[in-house]
Amino acid sequence: MADLRVQLGSLTLKHPVLPGPGPNVAGLADGVAALDGGAAALVLRTVTVAPPGGRSTWAAYGKDGALHEAAPSTMPFDAWLDSVWGPAVTAARTARAPLIPSIGYTPDEVAYMAERLPEADALLYDTHHAARGDLAAALQAIRNVSAAPVIVRLAPHHGEDLADLAAELEPHADAFCLIGSFGPTLMINADSPAGSPGIGFLSGAPIRPIAQRFVFEVAQRVAKPVIAAGGIFTGRDVVTALMLGASAVMVSTAAVVKGSSVYGEIAAELDQWLTGHDRASALDVQRAYIRRWGHGQRVVTEKEEAPVLSEPDCITCTFCETVCFYDAIKAPAKTLPTIDGDPCFQCGLCVSACPTGALSFAPREQVTLVRKGR
Ligand code: SF4
Ligand code: SF4
Repeated sequence: MADLRVQLGSLTLKHPVLPGPGPNVAGLADGVAALDGGAAALVLRTVTVAPPGGRSTWAAYGKDGALHEAAPSTMPFDAWLDSVWGPAVTAARTARAPLIPSIGYTPDEVAYMAERLPEADALLYDTHHAARGDLAAALQAIRNVSAAPVIVRLAPHHGEDLADLAAELEPHADAFCLIGSFGPTLMINADSPAGSPGIGFLSGAPIRPIAQRFVFEVAQRVAKPVIAAGGIFTGRDVVTALMLGASAVMVSTAAVVKGSSVYGEIAAELDQWLTGHDRASALDVQRAYIRRWGHGQRVVTEKEEAPVLSEPDCITCTFCETVCFYDAIKAPAKTLPTIDGDPCFQCGLCVSACPTGALSFAPREQVTLVRKGR
C-alpha cells in the first residue's frame, strides 16, 4: 500500500480526497456520510451571515457533468452556529477527522464567522459570490480573528488571470482551491426552450481540462498548496492533479452522481495506481508534469503506453485512423487497424473515439510485442 498522506500547510490529511463545499454536502448528514464514505475530512457546505435568496439549482449535463447555481446554505450563520456547528465538531472529533467549514463572502461576514469557529482545523474561504477587490481584505480579516489555516477557493469568473490573483493573495492564504466550476454558462433546449436549465455554472467531467490548466498555472506560480477541483471522478484524475502540482483534490459532482462512497473509492484507486506504478507515496508523482515540462518534455509518467487492439471487438470502421492526428494508426476499409507505437503521442483520442471499445492503453513494450507477433 502506498503512503497517501498529504500536507496542506499545517494540516495532515490521511489521503488527498476531500469533499467540495457544495450540494454534495448539503446538510451535516451528507458531510458525515462523506466521512463514512472515506473522505479525508469533514467539509461543510458554505455558510454566510445573510444568505442570498434563491435555491440551488441543478441540471445534469451529459453523463458526468452538471449545470448549476450552487447557492450557500439557506440557513443564516447564527442559526447554523446554534444547530449545526456543535454536532459537526462532535462528528469530526469522533471520526478523528479534520473539520473544515466553508464561509463566505464579504470581509465583515467572514471575520464575524471565523471568530466564532475556533474548533475549525482549517477554514475554507468560498469566494463564489465575493467581489474580487474584497478578497485580500477578507483573508486579512479572517487572519485577524482566527489561527486556523485558510484555504481560499478561486474560480475563473474572478478573471482568467487566476495565477496572478493567487500570487497577490498568497501572503494571506495557506492554500488555494480551484476551480470547482466554470461559468456562468448558458444551456438551452432546442425543443423546449421554456423548460431550459438556462444560465448556470458548469461542473464535473466537462470542465476537467479547464481545471487542469488553472491548477497547472497556479501551482507553477505559488509555493502554497493547491487543491484541484473540477472533474475529479477517479484515482487517475487525482494522479493527474498531483502531477500538475496539486497537493489534494476536492470532489463534488462525482459524489452527487455516484453517492458518498465515491471519496473512498477514489482514494483506493489512487492507492492501486501508485502501487501498480511502483510509487511509494502520493508525493512521488507530485509536480512530475511540471518538472518534465520545465525540461521541454511532454512525458508525464515513466511508463510509456500506446493503444492496443482487441481484434474480436473491432468492426473495422476505420474511425481510429480518421481521428489520429499523428498517423500512428492505419485502418484500411474492412481491415483490422495496425498501430505504430513510435509516432503515437498517447493522446488517447482513438481509445475515446472507438465505438466498440476495441482499443485500450497498454505498456508500450507489450504493444511492440503484439506487433512483432503478427
Ligand atoms: S475505431 Fe475501433 S472498431 Fe473502428 S477500426 Fe478502429 S479499433 Fe476498430
Ligand atoms: S493515442 Fe492518439 S496518437 Fe496514439 S494512436 Fe491513438 S489517436 Fe493516434
